[in-house]
Amino acid sequence: MSIKETDDVLHSTQIVIEQALQRLGYNQDMIDLLKEPIRLLTVRIPVRMDDGTTKVFTGYRSQHNDAVGPTKGGVRFHPGVSENEVKALSIWMSLKCGIADLPYGGGKGGVVCDPRTMSFRELERLSRGYVRAVSQIVGPTKDIPAPDVMTNSQIMAWMMDEYSRIREFDSPGFITGKPLVLGGSKGRETATARGVVIMIYEALRLRGIELKNARIVIQGFGNAGSYLAKFMHEAGARVIGISDVNGALYNEEGLDIDYLLDRRDSFGNVTNLFSQTITNAQLLELDCDVLVPAAIENQITEENAPRIRAAIVVEAANGPTTLEATKLLTDRGILLIPDVLASAGGVIVSYFEWVQNNQGYYWDEQEIDDKLKNMMIRGFEHVYEIHRTRKVDMRLAAYMAGVRKMAEAVRFRGWV
Ligand code: GLU
Repeated sequence: MSIKETDDVLHSTQIVIEQALQRLGYNQDMIDLLKEPIRLLTVRIPVRMDDGTTKVFTGYRSQHNDAVGPTKGGVRFHPGVSENEVKALSIWMSLKCGIADLPYGGGKGGVVCDPRTMSFRELERLSRGYVRAVSQIVGPTKDIPAPDVMTNSQIMAWMMDEYSRIREFDSPGFITGKPLVLGGSKGRETATARGVVIMIYEALRLRGIELKNARIVIQGFGNAGSYLAKFMHEAGARVIGISDVNGALYNEEGLDIDYLLDRRDSFGNVTNLFSQTITNAQLLELDCDVLVPAAIENQITEENAPRIRAAIVVEAANGPTTLEATKLLTDRGILLIPDVLASAGGVIVSYFEWVQNNQGYYWDEQEIDDKLKNMMIRGFEHVYEIHRTRKVDMRLAAYMAGVRKMAEAVRFRGWV
């Protein structure tokens, strides 16, 4: 497969940010400021491995812009983490927070590593080492991390503990996605998937498809993908395809989701238990009503977009569709619900978690679900309205909705 310039997630993000700001009437100075993060820290983290050797890992924390408020966004542990990826991810977090109208700018962190090959204690030492390395630029009123690809509530707990030790007071508001007993929020674990479900309902309504007739295909069986499969299955839709990093499963009658959830390992691997599998590439091209990429970047490209047979694509992952593919899908009348809108559920409930930590008063699950639903629907209506009235595709509409508040805040502060 040829590597194109626009497959670089940072470059393609910058193209759309520029278009969005131009459409909103901002000048080149604003574009220059918001095209790049204001701060990027690269760190080297020495970790004592179980065999006694020391391995040095590279990590990053990118802060896109803090005109609106502290920056916010997850930390991913993945072998493919790179500087440009983390920068792009931090810009996407700004857009998510903007669409959901949260009082944050975007941030993102990452460590180049493969947690699947590391022991529990090695992961703990890496998590603590990362926090020590970035501690000067993060904090409950500066930059608030959270889970992302291959990081979870246990990792958040270690990071919170390390930060609290450094600061010498208990700081639950430093990080979100924590275990409930350490100040986590009800509904945080399932929040990204819940948000995606709400977007699928809105999209099905627009396309006049009934939920019980809907055939759903989900790429990825991690936090977002697996809970999404569960919720869609419980709601009566037919989940006909799922996948993990090794391969995919397909059954036109609907897969036994309860069985798959029961058998998946902590990284979402399950297809290795089956002999009859298809590839991830084949999964994406299945005939279905809703395709949900819920894994990693650049999955729907110029190459396979013409063969996508879904009526609706809802992006639960960050950046799964390239810019060329966005155009191809849009031109073919496929309804695309872009990542910065569709996957905002996670950061919305993270915001609720941070508010609860700051108040020291905790809400029940119903309250969280209701508030999440309202914010997702408001975000959807806002984006769809821009798409309709300004005649731009859904991705550009989402960028316009997402960047407007930040640009306004920058202007009021007199930075540009
Ligand atoms: N990592 C999630 C995302 O990409 C959640 C970020 C957060 O909760 O701050 O949206």
